[in-house]
Amino acid sequence: MPPKSLYVRYMETPRREADYKPVAERITNYREFRLSLSLAEIAEQANRCMTCGIPFCHNAGCPLGNPIPETNQLIAEGRIKEACGLLHIHDNFPEFTGRLCPALCEASCVHVLNEESVTIRQLELETTELGWQNGWIKPQPAAAKTGKRVAVIGSGPAGLAAAQQLVRAGHEVIVYERADLPGGILRYGIPDFKLEKNIIDRRLDQLCAEGIRFECGVSVGIDIAPQYLRRLFDAVILTGGAMEPRDLAVPNRDAAGIHFAMDYLIAANKSIKSAGQPPVISASGKKVIILGGGDTGADCLGTAIRQGAVSVKQFEIMPKPPENNGGTASPARAVWPRWAQILRTGTSHKEGGERRWSVSTKRFLQQKGVLTGLECAEVDWQGGKPVEKSGSGFTEEADLVLLALGFIHPKHDELLNQFGVELDGRGNVKVDPQTMMTSQPGIFAAGDMQSGASLVVRCIQGGRLAAYNADKFLTGYSDLLAVPPL
Ligand SMILES: Cc1cc2nc3c(=O)[nH]c(=O)nc-3n(C[C@H](O)[C@H](O)[C@H](O)COP(=O)(O)OP(=O)(O)OC[C@H]3O[C@@H](n4cnc5c(N)ncnc54)[C@H](O)[C@@H]3O)c2cc1C
Repeated sequence: MPPKSLYVRYMETPRREADYKPVAERITNYREFRLSLSLAEIAEQANRCMTCGIPFCHNAGCPLGNPIPETNQLIAEGRIKEACGLLHIHDNFPEFTGRLCPALCEASCVHVLNEESVTIRQLELETTELGWQNGWIKPQPAAAKTGKRVAVIGSGPAGLAAAQQLVRAGHEVIVYERADLPGGILRYGIPDFKLEKNIIDRRLDQLCAEGIRFECGVSVGIDIAPQYLRRLFDAVILTGGAMEPRDLAVPNRDAAGIHFAMDYLIAANKSIKSAGQPPVISASGKKVIILGGGDTGADCLGTAIRQGAVSVKQFEIMPKPPENNGGTASPARAVWPRWAQILRTGTSHKEGGERRWSVSTKRFLQQKGVLTGLECAEVDWQGGKPVEKSGSGFTEEADLVLLALGFIHPKHDELLNQFGVELDGRGNVKVDPQTMMTSQPGIFAAGDMQSGASLVVRCIQGGRLAAYNADKFLTGYSDLLAVPPL
């Protein structure tokens, strides 16, 4: 019998994602809980890729321009080492994006028009993990040095990507980081159950072996003067993130028991790192309300459940997004190949808690300065504005409130003030989009600090683009690969 054509085989194979450990087991600890697929299953899933002539996943979905059909083809043929190499050409850290990316590429997959997308993110992750297990991911030190020196400020995904590109181009690179360890929000912010920190350390070993030097516990603008760095280095890349949290100016905001989500999540990361020291902010035994329905709120939810909260509720002021019913009129199909605003249920939401939408917080309730609850109301959205529904007011008991309302812009602190870089209308660092250079010659910016709070994949893209432009600035040309933002 002749072999079945590729067409028939992918039509017969349903999308299959990796399983997770059961909820009851995974919420007892902070370990990652994704289970792996077998090699045969990975190849089978990769074979669902139609290697489209015009691959929207690659040119409309992935900010890094990952060559997704080509990678999937290699995986389908069992050529995993080559696939791993190909992934690394566009993405410095596919093990981070493979775990954390919302997979914009999957929303752009042509399969979405008829059925379910290829499991692109998972294939990326499985391939990269096989790369680590088999020792295929090695340091790639530069063949020759340029004699130029670059300082990278901040060690989140943007700073790490920029640093790796620049050291591979032959420059001497020093990364300055305020925290005790590199990683930015990957290390302090994102919970360990989404990204165990040894995954970052493993990659940092590679970066160090390529020659990058990390100076941690150094706050530029306080411990080191920007003027000093400008004299010492030929170029500087600002990747300090966008950490100014959005606050909620309602009565009793200062009651004890109300915290920004990041303070809570960082405390949780640090407690796990210190193997058992209780976190300085804990949900244990508490009634928790999370304000903000996004990913940061979901990370708070999963963490609070693991810490033993009595109850966890997540309130969002925006209306509930439509569910993706998969039919011909599905919201995902309507906007394909773009990202659809549909209801997304993350792994933390499946672990417990309750979600409510169109809820506005009117005031916090307190006794003797200590939080006891919230007074809320339901809202209707009229002309883009929330209008309180009459008679919809309600109160909720709470002894811990976490504000996960997003970030406004980078901190306008000593770093930006002393470098004297111009800001854009939203308060982010302004760059020339062609060169990623700020208003100050030789000073570049990337990541959340330049774009506003975004995604890991976009920060890697921005870091690579800043590195390409800094390399060109330093040497007159660049062989580094970078793509412009979508
Ligand atoms: C809780 C949470 C969960 C998230 N989950 C996801 C997810 O699942 N998927 C996803 O794609 N994105 C996620 N994001 C977004 C993503 O983490 C960020 O977009 C990304 O980390 C920003 O990267 P960055 O390199 O620009 O800066 P950051 O990661 O913010 O790192 C900036 C670093 O700069 C350092 N720094 C700042 N100022 C100075 C100074 N003066 N001197 C020295 N160092 C300095 C900071 O200490 C920090 O380490 C999440 C964000 C949060 C807050």
